[in-house]
Amino acid sequence: MGDKKYLLIIGDGMADLPVPELGGKTPLEAADKPFIDALARRSESGSVKNCPDGLPPGSDTAILSIFGCDPLKYYTGRAPLEAAAQGIKLSEGDLAFRCNMASLGGEDVPFEDKIIISHSSGGIEGEESKELVEWLFSQPEFAAAAKKAGVAVKPGLSYRHICVQTPGDGLGLVLFPPHDHLGERVGDNMPRGSRNAGVLAELMKLSNKLLPGHPINEERIALGKLPCNCIWFWAEGTACELPSFADAYGKRGAVISAVPLCRGIAAMTGLQSIEVEGATGELDTNYEGKADAAVRALCEEGFEFVAIHIEAPDECTHNHDLAGKLQAIANIDSRVVMRVCRELEERGEAYRMLILSDHMTLMATGAHGAQPVPFIIYDSTLPQTGPEEGYCEAGGAKGRYIENGTRLMNILFGG
Ligand SMILES: [Zn+2]
Repeated sequence: MGDKKYLLIIGDGMADLPVPELGGKTPLEAADKPFIDALARRSESGSVKNCPDGLPPGSDTAILSIFGCDPLKYYTGRAPLEAAAQGIKLSEGDLAFRCNMASLGGEDVPFEDKIIISHSSGGIEGEESKELVEWLFSQPEFAAAAKKAGVAVKPGLSYRHICVQTPGDGLGLVLFPPHDHLGERVGDNMPRGSRNAGVLAELMKLSNKLLPGHPINEERIALGKLPCNCIWFWAEGTACELPSFADAYGKRGAVISAVPLCRGIAAMTGLQSIEVEGATGELDTNYEGKADAAVRALCEEGFEFVAIHIEAPDECTHNHDLAGKLQAIANIDSRVVMRVCRELEERGEAYRMLILSDHMTLMATGAHGAQPVPFIIYDSTLPQTGPEEGYCEAGGAKGRYIENGTRLMNILFGG
């Protein structure tokens, strides 16, 4: 047994408002999560605002806050944070975007009248996604247009790629996160606000002309999968830098996450990213693998702090999949938190663990919410009396209110 271990568990977008299909309960209240609820009853509990007013609510701003980086000071957009996960260094004057592989619906209608069906082409696999985007950018018509626009692609994992525009003009540019506009008309969500918006819109439109003809898409349709028939630009941002986590908190830390955003924030704050095979960012992710990697990092690899980020609840909510959201929360309970705690207890380790949802993701709209979210801090050496409700929005609202999420790490390391 060594020094106290510190853990952070982020269940992305777990928190929500009451849902009519759940008899007015929230998903956190309705989900089967006996272990976390029992912990909550012995934890310090409260609610915290991770998404400051004036910025778009999402994991980018929320997770910056959680890691102690004030988004009002450091946030220039989501894509630069994700670019860091791929080792892409942006220069002054560059503009980075997310380039999603998306699915549009609607045959034989003008591009603008098509409907955004999926922001991820139904969770397209990494290899197919990479092959399609590289093929697109190599097609002469598209390559010429992209070159003229100064846009280059850096293929990433799954449906998430990064594009860098050099030079890139973000002034007045408005891009729409596709996961917040599923079921809506393309024309209502096209880039707007500047001349550069028109340039980016043309590239998106051209991708929708070329991508459907690729054999991968014919095969996907034959298999009953969504075709990946359009790229979607959003999350623009310029070069930024983040403060060192070790300097701020004096802890050597690691982050376990499937999503580039989290890994990028880790890279920029000097935290180590730990790869876990089968970590997908979807409902089928390797929960046990993440839990075991966290225990190894803390007990065998010399890390003092480990964050586990689970994307699945957020992804299910964007897909309007209530059953999936409930299952994701149940999985975090039985396959991550319980597994980590049991293992640490078996090894006789003292630990302190913060569990929270980074932001709300709303079943009602499929979009993020900036409202405060519940948190608990469980200390294996200092049992407390938490809310009878367990870990949920109402339980959190009974405890202390933290107006600024950037204080969370100080509170975690304070005990
Ligand atoms: Zn989300």
